[in-house]
Amino acid sequence: MPLSPVLAFLGNSLDRCANQRSDGDWLSRLLMQPSTRHIRMSGDKTFMRDGHLQTFEAAKAPECVLLGVDASGTGWFASTAQAEENLMDLRSLAGAGTLPQGELAILAQARSLLHWHERHGFCANCGVKTEMRDAGYRRHCAACATDHFPRTDPVIIIAVRHKTRMLLGRHSAWPHGMYSTLAGFMEPGETIEEAARREVFEEAGIRVGDIAFHANQPWPFPSSLMIGLIGEALNDDIVVDPKELETARWFERDEVQSMLDKCHPQGLNAPLPLAIAHHLIRACLGANPGEAE
Ligand SMILES: [Zn+2]
Repeated sequence: MPLSPVLAFLGNSLDRCANQRSDGDWLSRLLMQPSTRHIRMSGDKTFMRDGHLQTFEAAKAPECVLLGVDASGTGWFASTAQAEENLMDLRSLAGAGTLPQGELAILAQARSLLHWHERHGFCANCGVKTEMRDAGYRRHCAACATDHFPRTDPVIIIAVRHKTRMLLGRHSAWPHGMYSTLAGFMEPGETIEEAARREVFEEAGIRVGDIAFHANQPWPFPSSLMIGLIGEALNDDIVVDPKELETARWFERDEVQSMLDKCHPQGLNAPLPLAIAHHLIRACLGANPGEAE
């Protein structure tokens, strides 16, 4: 039976309180409320208890960040914990599907924000240690008066089709038999479409014409935004760049369907529903303009 197609890390309903979070008194009051929920994370892992997200009492960590306030007025905070037992990683939690989607999205926010603080403690302009401000949404350098803001890295990910076929590739580090859509980080000065056309040509030698936006997804490993696209190939003679991919080829839709359904005769498979690649592939299967040809 196919898995339920649920895209992970969407549905964060917290109010991030951008107009209040620079107010230290407001922040202190929120932090000390008995109902406050405090998430502790070690890398991309967090604490679970009896199948539920484990939260802690008022934060005492010096670098505690505000995630936001929920509909009941409860404040959500997060801080970095030392590696300990009883932790579960975000990919496993997303794959298991046991946490509410909104909580998984809050964990993604926490992981990306904490990761940024852990690696940006010093000013990129002058090298002096920076201080956290605005409850975690800014770091300030007192030496050169520069402000630094949390980063999000845009990544294009594209399902490319040619008539009834779909282009999928694999990296050598992936699990045996795994194929997926092509993806890559955007570079400075590019539009989304330009980045997508560049990546597909670099990796597989395929020129892409029309491109349509399909969906996007925060991807907290550590702080990407996956921009999901569907593109139409202008040629079909694949030339793989071995520095980028182990292999790539065209797949007919029946074969892709068997990969999604985990019944491919050679054991090939596609990404799980937690990842946007799965949804791009499904969208291609369901709306292929070459189908009637
Ligand atoms: Zn500085």
